[in-house]
Amino acid sequence: MRLQGDSFMKLTGIALGMVLAASMAMTARAQEKPAAKPLKAVRFGKLWDGKGKLWTNAIVVIEGDKIRSVTTDASAIPAGAEVIDLSRFTGLPGLIDVHTHMTMYTDETPGESMLKQITNNPPATEVFLARKGAMRTLEAGVTTVRDLGADQYMDIAMRDLINRGEMTGPRMFVVGYGLYITNTAYKPGINPPAGGIADGVPEVLRAVRQQIAAGVDLIKMYASTGTDDDVTQFETYSYDEIKAAVDAAHQFGKKIAIHSYGPDGARDAVRAGTDSLEHATDMDDATIQEMAKRGTFYVPTIDHNRYYLDNWQKIGYANGFQEKTKAFIERNLETARKAHKAGVRFAMGSDAIYTMFGENTRELGWFVKAGMTPEQALQTATGNAASLLGKEKELGAVAAGYFADLVAVEGDPLADINVAINNVRWVMKAGAVVVDKTKAQPH
Ligand SMILES: [Zn+2]
Repeated sequence: MRLQGDSFMKLTGIALGMVLAASMAMTARAQEKPAAKPLKAVRFGKLWDGKGKLWTNAIVVIEGDKIRSVTTDASAIPAGAEVIDLSRFTGLPGLIDVHTHMTMYTDETPGESMLKQITNNPPATEVFLARKGAMRTLEAGVTTVRDLGADQYMDIAMRDLINRGEMTGPRMFVVGYGLYITNTAYKPGINPPAGGIADGVPEVLRAVRQQIAAGVDLIKMYASTGTDDDVTQFETYSYDEIKAAVDAAHQFGKKIAIHSYGPDGARDAVRAGTDSLEHATDMDDATIQEMAKRGTFYVPTIDHNRYYLDNWQKIGYANGFQEKTKAFIERNLETARKAHKAGVRFAMGSDAIYTMFGENTRELGWFVKAGMTPEQALQTATGNAASLLGKEKELGAVAAGYFADLVAVEGDPLADINVAINNVRWVMKAGAVVVDKTKAQPH
């Protein structure tokens, strides 16, 4: 009886449990049922996938914001997928520009130089205007940027607005204030901007921690003079200060980008363990060797000085700087040539500022001049740049699991890098088409 009773109770219990489990599962299904992620399939005549493969008649299957698969098999296109036919074009991964100043956008407002606009515009105005530069950046095929310096955390605001879908623009990884030494004259009654000013190791530590607390993605430090129409190369920080910044950033899992126009700041930044070195010109052979050994990324930003020469009157530079800047460009290119030969890893950074947005990828032309093949140049704006961001499993390639960031260009970018620079016809970022100039083109 007892046994029977127990068995009966057990059976009833199991049955009840099954009913409960089934109803719970149904409830869970009803509650969890995700809005079906939109399916898309993009066809390319050719596709350079950023992983060393050139596909013919590739189909990229996209689910939501990610790539589900890359295939040549049309039967793999899921039922109900929106098919986008770009067979006339060559597909590339969305490009990455690792050195921008998105919030330092200006237009050509009559009567006001760009330098003045930057200082006169309130932050809200700057961020609102910056949407134009963001759009031009996307039109150049750049779907991700590493933004290296802004005032008043406008970069964080812009990054978050873009991530929330309130602003259309490239995905941003930002630094807040770059760290720099005291460089303003004393004026009674006027406090210097707090920002990134830091002198000595304790202040460097405070400034790094301040940026991290603000919510930045990485740290930027200016370890030499040189910016705009000034191409001087004096080291500004000591090795100990640089090392303190590098270690403090790394301690919190953040990378660091160090600006140095000259060889001394470059040498100390590299031996302190910087993740990337920006601009560095006239580097000595030992520093170049050390970069190759450590895998330090070199971001030479050769083209931004070309932009300054082309636009100096609108920017508001004083006449007379041009010869020095021209000479600097030549030496910058020569340093890049040496570094490439020595096996240093490069990442593409434009240093886009003012109205330079949209010209982000012209840097690739300089890389080819420095001895790269077009494919090696493209690698600097895809896989290499993604590695520098620590996002090599999500960005910089067209492969399953990566963000659906795609660019269609007209022509063969592996034969002529200018195709990637000038012939962008269509851009997708995270599964959404953000640029479409395919209709305007003759068939
Ligand atoms: Zn810069």
